[in-house]
Amino acid sequence: MNATLLPPAVHGGSTGSPGGVLTVDLGALARNHRRLAERAGGAAVAGVVKADAYGLGVAAVAPALHAAGCRTFFVAHLAEALRLRPALPGEAEIFVLNGLLPGDEPLCAASGFRPVLNSGEQLDAWGALGRALGRALPAAIQVDSGMSRLGLAPGEVAGLVGDPSRLDGIETVLVMSHLACADEPDHPANAAQLAAFEALAAGLPAARRSLANSAGLFLGDRFRFDLARPGIALYGGAPTSGRPNPMEPVVRLDARVIQVREVPAGAGIGYGFAAVAERPMRLATLSVGYADGWLRASGNRGAAFFRGRRLPITGRVSMDSIIVEAGDAPLGAGVLVELIGPDATLDAAAAAAGTISYEILTALGHRYERRYVTTTIEGDRP
Ligand SMILES: *Cc1c(COP(=O)(O)O)cnc(C)c1O
Repeated sequence: MNATLLPPAVHGGSTGSPGGVLTVDLGALARNHRRLAERAGGAAVAGVVKADAYGLGVAAVAPALHAAGCRTFFVAHLAEALRLRPALPGEAEIFVLNGLLPGDEPLCAASGFRPVLNSGEQLDAWGALGRALGRALPAAIQVDSGMSRLGLAPGEVAGLVGDPSRLDGIETVLVMSHLACADEPDHPANAAQLAAFEALAAGLPAARRSLANSAGLFLGDRFRFDLARPGIALYGGAPTSGRPNPMEPVVRLDARVIQVREVPAGAGIGYGFAAVAERPMRLATLSVGYADGWLRASGNRGAAFFRGRRLPITGRVSMDSIIVEAGDAPLGAGVLVELIGPDATLDAAAAAAGTISYEILTALGHRYERRYVTTTIEGDRP
């Protein structure tokens, strides 16, 4: 039997009735980690929990991943690593993807975090601190295999090969790179980056290697290396665009109806009259808007659902509300309708807003009531 993330029960008043309820299923999160670990074969599967675990709440997500067997975590900023640390047992390994800004090295080292060294300057600063402290400080070295974003350029790697003493004071625990086009499996950049990564890594100290993000795990065995770094697939987003999504949904978002009204034909609907009623219409106003991360680009495009029935978003998205066409759905003030869930999938919501699931999740605001649940399915380990 499949787990179902049930809609939250309606309640109001006592909690101040927030405009929406964001439900995060930590059981589904753990199952997604397990699914990716199966796909990764012998490679370890880290958890990328930057940006507050893609908006889902790192304080709940990180311990759930650890309980599922995840031992390595990636954040983007040193400040995020500091917030993550108390959520995890001491032995968990925390990497800082965006590397080090000048002056951050002592705090990073004292906190036991592992910076991803992305440039010659970062490498030299980390090595200098290690030499000053009289011990090799663990770090990842990122090489730029073609994305032109972060990491040592091929020329800088060649420089290191010629002068390995620059690595004194550094314990290279991971050599990594990042794929630019992994969600397009047929893109020639994937094979080119794989070859470039292997060539560049060969010039660096022997260490674990890591190339694949979520999508990279679906490109084939040669992309797995020792450690995969999925983010979005853990959170239920489709790893590969245009392919069926093999992951289990983790997030459910329900918005509260605040008003239902009937309007005559010709009535303007919402700001700018971006929609006009073509016939007498029944409308419901929901208490979620762009300040809650319901992107303005979903105006006149996305939809909410109520008991499987589609309620098209009508007119523009306001800061604190959206208007949907209610038809004869039995809606009234306080009722919850689905914005993300079994009918309104995360990937469909992203498509309606002309964006990607990553942006939908990381935009989710802080006004929702957040509920963390742990569903189980047959076969789950106790
Ligand atoms: C964000 C990020 C990831 C995770 O990517 P997903 O596509 O969410 O799996 C992995 N590696 C690096 C370097 C990243 O910046």
